[in-house]
Amino acid sequence: MKRQQFLIQGQVQGVGFRPHVYRIAQRLSLTGWVQNHSAGVLVEVQGIQAQHFIAALQLNLPSLAVIDQIKTTDCVLVPNESIFTIRMSEEKKSSQAMIPPDSCLCDDCLTDLFDPSSPYYLYPFVNCTQCGPRFTITHQLPYDRQQTAMASFPLCDRCQQNYSDPMNRRYHAQPIACPECGPKMSASMVDIAADITAGKIVAIKGMGGYQLYCDAYDVEAIAELRQRKQRDAKPFALMVLNVASARALVSLDDRAEKILIRPERPIVLAQQVSQVLPQSLAPGLSDLGIMLPSTPIHYLLWHALLGFPTGTHWLSAMHPQVLVVTSANIAGQPLIIDDEEAYHALGGIADKIVSFNRAIMTRADDSVIRPISTQSVMVRRARGYCPTMIPLPYEIPCTLGLGGDLKNTFCITRGDQAFVSQHIGSLTNAATIAFFHESLTHWIRFLGVEIERVACDSHPDFYTTRCAEDYGVPVVPIQHHHAHAAAVIAEQHLLEPVLGLILDGYGYGMNGDSWGGELLKLEGSNYQRLSHLWPLLQPGGDRAAREPWRVGVGVLFDLNCVDQIIGRWPEQAQSASLIQALQHPLIADRRTSSAGRLFDAASAILGVNSCSDYEGQAAMQLESLVTTPLVLADGWVMSEQGLSFLPLLEHLLELTPISGANFFHGTLIAGLAEWVLCWSQQTSIKTIVLSGGCFINRILTDGLVNLLVNAGLQVHLPLQLPVNDGGLSLGQAWMASCRRSDI
Ligand SMILES: [Zn+2]
Ligand SMILES: [Zn+2]
Repeated sequence: MKRQQFLIQGQVQGVGFRPHVYRIAQRLSLTGWVQNHSAGVLVEVQGIQAQHFIAALQLNLPSLAVIDQIKTTDCVLVPNESIFTIRMSEEKKSSQAMIPPDSCLCDDCLTDLFDPSSPYYLYPFVNCTQCGPRFTITHQLPYDRQQTAMASFPLCDRCQQNYSDPMNRRYHAQPIACPECGPKMSASMVDIAADITAGKIVAIKGMGGYQLYCDAYDVEAIAELRQRKQRDAKPFALMVLNVASARALVSLDDRAEKILIRPERPIVLAQQVSQVLPQSLAPGLSDLGIMLPSTPIHYLLWHALLGFPTGTHWLSAMHPQVLVVTSANIAGQPLIIDDEEAYHALGGIADKIVSFNRAIMTRADDSVIRPISTQSVMVRRARGYCPTMIPLPYEIPCTLGLGGDLKNTFCITRGDQAFVSQHIGSLTNAATIAFFHESLTHWIRFLGVEIERVACDSHPDFYTTRCAEDYGVPVVPIQHHHAHAAAVIAEQHLLEPVLGLILDGYGYGMNGDSWGGELLKLEGSNYQRLSHLWPLLQPGGDRAAREPWRVGVGVLFDLNCVDQIIGRWPEQAQSASLIQALQHPLIADRRTSSAGRLFDAASAILGVNSCSDYEGQAAMQLESLVTTPLVLADGWVMSEQGLSFLPLLEHLLELTPISGANFFHGTLIAGLAEWVLCWSQQTSIKTIVLSGGCFINRILTDGLVNLLVNAGLQVHLPLQLPVNDGGLSLGQAWMASCRRSDI
């Protein structure tokens, strides 16, 4: 006979953990209690089989539960204890607990949804401890129905009974509801499906915000959607009912398939295998963004679109139907979550607006992941992944990393935990800036922290830099690419010196220079810029980022091929004046080591893209053309001025787009690998982190990782964080704390 206490930490609240403990205690004939605690879940067990408790606990964990740590203490036996109980929560302000992320409909609830004998039959808000909304409906901690959007829906007798029965799947599931007591939709599925089938655009309130739906085969509906959303060419995400239907559209290996069906239900970027869908969904791109249904509303919509099939076979059968699903917002603005705002703002975009009376407390866009051969690259981290904690190597003072201005996220640390916010967006308009502040207040409140230090980008004009002083605590600026590398160091606990290869669009460098293709050496809180890409001209400054032909002109200027400029971009009226301007020493000095601009230059020279509709388009279209990467043996030069690909760019002048895309990618990979290996030898550092938006490119990342790993290097890409600027905030927070301990 033995009595032990366990403090179990991790994602253990709001995921059916206490009933799980209760059932094990029953099975092992243990007495004692379990209780939600500010630091996790606290359990005391007593009995002859007490030593088997932990093994049994870990065996069949609830699917959403994650244990980070278990602290065990031996206790004195409690005489005459005869039962095991679930105790009421201990409520404390400074909580170590956390809200779980939103999760897709679980298999059991899916069965309920289409079982005519279930009280939840066709009920759009069915959920249980294993599934449903969490983060997006919670106002503050402790995670309890009264603190969520469900506070205004008192439980009916049946739901109350389920909620109170430890053996029930809905025991203490805070958002549970049924047709009698729960939220209701504003329109019938029959009508919604009929409208979509008739070619209309329908806005439907979702888990983290309103989304727009239309038929993905309907060319006119897509054109209309593009026009109304002012979204010229940016690809639209698609929804199919199941994996079998996804396989008919895109190529999915095991890894991609597993990501697609994960409870987070991200959008998965995968290569198209058929040309059945209109080109206008993702113009010029080889990949499509695919997702599966995540909420009961999605499943009910599919049920209606497929003509209300009976049974459950239809759920796994292949269906050719595909839906466009895209966030319901005006270009560049945050997702709409408020019902009234939806009726005003979406009136001109959607033919029909469908709502329900459960509020969204905080918005979360769809998350986006691109599987590559060795791992997966996160493009956007939001719904399903937030607010999952990222463990840090050790405890640091509470630091706020404000992130960058584009693809903003912020990061708040608490002890040895880091919390990176959901994707906020580009802080270039008032609505997104308001969302940034709203979310920041929300996160600081539910984490129960007091900020001791603020970290920001070293760009003096970033919005985030300007508001860094507002907190009245020390501010630490962290160089952009340093932060990119530091994010991987913090996430993967790489505490020894590492090399960082950062390839991205733009970051503020030393003396205000424009950086973006950097090879850094990182040691503690310090970094050293070992080398960089040879800087390209960017006539027109910021405009060059949206108009690749301008960078192309700069390259031809450097190659002494000015005579070719007008002929190559005859449609650009300004090319003659640009050539003139380049004679001016001030303009000719404006250069950037950006890797993004190197892609743009290649894309423009090959005639693939001379003006972009969205960030990264020129590079994505170029990648889409690659069939087999080829290496131009003398395509690069390493010198004191950095790694130059001018010989490669000169070669591209003679090539067709496909051949050029192949030579560009193959040569870039070979040149970068040689450069990195050369510095690895000089510094005797064998660990390298790769980060920056360019690594979303599958060909580049796969190719480079292969070469570096084969040469004996340890290669690290961000695992849980976006590889682009969405990951900056964690790197900033971590580096600011490293600096602090150095002082
Ligand atoms: Zn469920
Ligand atoms: Zn009910």
